[in-house]
Amino acid sequence: MKYRVPDYYKDFSCIGSKCKNNCCIGWEIDIDDKTLKDYYQVEGEFGKRLCDNIIHEDSAYFKMDKKGRCAFLNKNNLCDIFTKLGENHLCQICTDHPRFYNEFADIKEIGIGLSCEVAADLILNQKEPVSFLETGNNLGNLEEMFIFYVRNKIFEILQNRKLDMSQRINLMLEFTQKMQNYVNQGKHSLDLIEINIQDNTQKHWKKASSAESWKQWKTILLNLEILDDTWKKLLMNTDSQKNIQINDIFYEQLLVYFIYRHFMHAINDKNMIDKVKFAVISCHIIARIIQENDLNNMGLIKEDIPRLYSKEVEYSDENQEIIFDEILFESF
Ligand code: SF4
Repeated sequence: MKYRVPDYYKDFSCIGSKCKNNCCIGWEIDIDDKTLKDYYQVEGEFGKRLCDNIIHEDSAYFKMDKKGRCAFLNKNNLCDIFTKLGENHLCQICTDHPRFYNEFADIKEIGIGLSCEVAADLILNQKEPVSFLETGNNLGNLEEMFIFYVRNKIFEILQNRKLDMSQRINLMLEFTQKMQNYVNQGKHSLDLIEINIQDNTQKHWKKASSAESWKQWKTILLNLEILDDTWKKLLMNTDSQKNIQINDIFYEQLLVYFIYRHFMHAINDKNMIDKVKFAVISCHIIARIIQENDLNNMGLIKEDIPRLYSKEVEYSDENQEIIFDEILFESF
């Protein structure tokens, strides 16, 4: 098995009770079967509390109070399961979060998700281009290697600081479309992976970030299941015709994150271009909301917007599926 992590991964550590956006508030926390069995073995008063605070529907999950707090999050914002039973009695989601794991071709890629405030701060405020650290060796079959090396070239394009961000986005879309055409034709020779494209325009980004595009995505986002009222307020407030500025390392890191997290799913569906479009659309939505709202007045900082977006879109399978279905009809 080969393992891959972004270079900032080692610097992540949860701040627990000091966290302003604790992940035990506002989420339905599912309990995996193994942990559920373990909870039903717990005796005494705490065992009874566990049984009383687990809801069984399609899956089992913890009850929440009226403010959306997990039933086991105490007034000091610490987890009672952790303090009473120990860390190894946490359910899988609580153990993992905000880490994510993508496995393909005997390769495991690990990262941290933007929905956590510490992770968002760490990811988006890296000043140097992110690199990825690997252990073990496994390259997969030719098709898997092709998709992997296409992604490496995409990172190269996104991290080319000689170009404006909008030019990098344009180039990334042109390059990925060309590579997608090869995959559609069943061609996977690594020699085909050459950037070799002269395109210094901003045409794709201009279309992707237009007022028209915003109107369309605003409607889609408002029709999703919304987890956080602040997100809804931000969406409602965002409506002007401004040209969005993305020449900031923050947006490079944001795009690299989305590509790292989602692109390799193309191994399963052979659809690389939609993963790239997802990254571009996400970048537009986040940039527009940041630039058209008085965040300070709302008690928010810039990093809160990708954090909220990730919570609403990346951490809801249903919402993410709707977004990817919509992207099938997106042309820019
Ligand atoms: S959101 Fe991140 S920092 Fe906050 S409690 Fe969860 S894992 Fe820890």
